[in-house]
Amino acid sequence: MSEPTSFHMSPDDFRTFGHAMVDWIADYQERVESLPVMSQVQPGDIRAMLPAAPPETGEPFADIMADVDRVILPGVTHWQSPNFFAYFPANTSGPAILGELLSAGLGVQGMLWVTSPACTELETHMMDWLVDMLDLPGIFKSTSTGGGVIQDSASSATLCALLAARERASSFAINRSGGTGRMTAYATAQTHSSVEKAMMVAGMGREHLRLVDVDATFAMRPDALAAQIAQDRAAGFTPAFVCASVGTTSSNAIDPVRAIGEICRREQIWLHVDAAMSGTAALCPEFRWIHDGLEFADSYCFNPHKWMFTNFDCDAFFVADRKALIDTLSILPEYLRNEATKSGAVIDYRDWQIPLGRRFRALKLWFVIRHYGIAGLQHHVREHVRLAQEFAGWVSESEAFDVVAPAPLNLVCFRHRGGDTANQQIMDRLNLSGNLYLTHTKLDGKLTLRLVVGQTSTRAEHVAAAWMQIQDAAAAVTAQRA
Ligand SMILES: *Cc1c(COP(=O)(O)O)cnc(C)c1O
Repeated sequence: MSEPTSFHMSPDDFRTFGHAMVDWIADYQERVESLPVMSQVQPGDIRAMLPAAPPETGEPFADIMADVDRVILPGVTHWQSPNFFAYFPANTSGPAILGELLSAGLGVQGMLWVTSPACTELETHMMDWLVDMLDLPGIFKSTSTGGGVIQDSASSATLCALLAARERASSFAINRSGGTGRMTAYATAQTHSSVEKAMMVAGMGREHLRLVDVDATFAMRPDALAAQIAQDRAAGFTPAFVCASVGTTSSNAIDPVRAIGEICRREQIWLHVDAAMSGTAALCPEFRWIHDGLEFADSYCFNPHKWMFTNFDCDAFFVADRKALIDTLSILPEYLRNEATKSGAVIDYRDWQIPLGRRFRALKLWFVIRHYGIAGLQHHVREHVRLAQEFAGWVSESEAFDVVAPAPLNLVCFRHRGGDTANQQIMDRLNLSGNLYLTHTKLDGKLTLRLVVGQTSTRAEHVAAAWMQIQDAAAAVTAQRA
């Protein structure tokens, strides 16, 4: 017997196992509703089922798949369950998964135009399509002074925006010679934590992030922003960056972008608008009011990987002045020099992000948009909003629960009248049942339950069943405490 010369999976075997994998995923889509939504394992349970050492010799693929069922599935929280109402959706769809598979199959590195022209040009085209689909300001188009790029996450988009703001405010001096520690940024206590993290990573210091007061709807108060900026200028700081949220993670609060934008324009401060989940709603004309004033923004992002049926990762990040971003992030080592880049006729997306390498993520977006069409996407977004509104109506009419924040779209914040402990017990009981999954936030210092409708397969009966179970859990908790 001679030694084998290759250990690779042959294309024929790949075909066989690939078909089996697609079957597995299709079966999963059919049965995910019957699995406990929140994984019920304890810390260490999954590792305890894994061998201590990696295999010396290769194993049959069928054995690996058997362990997916035995070891992995119990430790999966089923984000794709129609009964997943927690955090925010991370929805996916058939065309997105197939686009992801194709991206892996092509295995392209799209750092420069020349390393795979289709990777860059399809991405530019999809970003321009999204501007039209959401009716975003035309300045975000590649044919204007701006343009869009796919980032891995909204957090990365925020970091890139903050870095560009920092450079613009310092006349591009900080990249060269380091910061002075006198630059300030503005958000609210409701803003996503990625802004604070970006301040840390950018070396601007999280002490220099000002948390501007919010109003009764948890939205930023423009008068408080203006006052804070004036106070900082008087103290010798350089205000550089404001992050406005269109749909905060906690309660879906929508900051008044127009009033904030007017202040930023007057004060020459970079305005970033973070619409990570809620931006998708603008596919529908009746929800486009959420973007009122967006023409004042220097940058904007939303996540097709939350609510637009495109699996993680896919954040759409737009800038009004691409030169500011590229001048901030561009570096050209000798080994990447090439004629196309030199000609200036192409986009090299590695200059629009933190890492050098990048995947062919535009494929899944292209597949999703072509499969659903604009009308198909609108249909499902409308249905999610309708179901969340129906749920909010039931909560408001109930004796035991209140809606405690405006619910303009697909997220409802609500609370049982029994106080924090009762709400915690209701939530624990529901999540341990495995029948649905929801999470909480704190609003005005009080524990608040959140229900988000955004899963691909969530239908009216799932939301109705969730409301029945929430009422049952509340009754059980009340009886127990009596
Ligand atoms: C979810 C969310 C984020 C973070 O998104 P990532 O893509 O995971 O970084 C940022 N901002 C808002 C408003 C969010 O809802």
